[in-house]
Amino acid sequence: MSAWATPRGVLQAGERVLLIDPKERRYLVRLQHGGRFQTHSGIIEHDEVIGGPAGGEIVAHRGEGEGRRFLVFRPTLSDLVVKMPRGAQVIYPKDLGAILLTADLFPGARVLEAGVGSGALSMAALRAGCEVTGYEIRDDFAERARANVAALLGETAPYRVESRDIYEHIAEEGFDRVLLDLPEPWRVVPHAEAALVPGGILLAYLPTINQTAELRAALDRSCFAAAETIEVLQRSWHVEGRSVRPDHRMVAHTGFLTSARLVRRSAGSPQ
Ligand code: SAH
Repeated sequence: MSAWATPRGVLQAGERVLLIDPKERRYLVRLQHGGRFQTHSGIIEHDEVIGGPAGGEIVAHRGEGEGRRFLVFRPTLSDLVVKMPRGAQVIYPKDLGAILLTADLFPGARVLEAGVGSGALSMAALRAGCEVTGYEIRDDFAERARANVAALLGETAPYRVESRDIYEHIAEEGFDRVLLDLPEPWRVVPHAEAALVPGGILLAYLPTINQTAELRAALDRSCFAAAETIEVLQRSWHVEGRSVRPDHRMVAHTGFLTSARLVRRSAGSPQ
């Protein structure tokens, strides 16, 4: 882990910061010497942020007088996932958090992931200490995922993305986990049986319950057991003075998480 970009110490040129204005609007900005960030609340000079604390305040310059105060933070993984460049739909933080524990992603785990899309799930798995091999059929997405991961963790993260169609096959074995975010994961079940270690976990993220039912049927016919499907509902609250209540809006639906564990049956046991 120490070889990776570690988010500690004073802010440096080249890294991204999260700026929060007095109205709680959030901006992700990459710091560079001589850079200026313009908002309607004024201009922020990057050089006044560089070298400063990763949790501080900066005053925007505005015409004659002082502009607004912005808070300056290092972005969290959630901030980056929500704001990073993407082509494919990313998995949102609430589901990423659940995947970490449902798939029991542990440091050093060998993880096969498909498709990698924009790399949000890859980033979460790498941050949990996994070694990730990604299969992605679209070269442009593969490239973007590599760039997003490198921007977060540097070039030395244990991450390899291959241009492959996982419906055809999985070229390696001995994976501890298989993570799937693609439309027809049931087509991967036979390959995952061969690629996972016994006890290994397959986890699939699917937007509809029809797809989930089809996956569950395929798992029932396979060497996987202990299948479970969950969805995660997250409701944020408005907390201001005496007005403390749920927010009016919430993300009503993202996807279903289905997990199962591979069993090597002993000879002669009924399937
Ligand atoms: N989990 C990703 C988003 C994945 S979007 C994230 O969090 O950022 C789904 C991806 O699956 C797309 O990039 C798509 O190109 C890829 N894909 C679809 N079918 C595939 C297949 N058969 N093999 C490999 N990748 C596939």
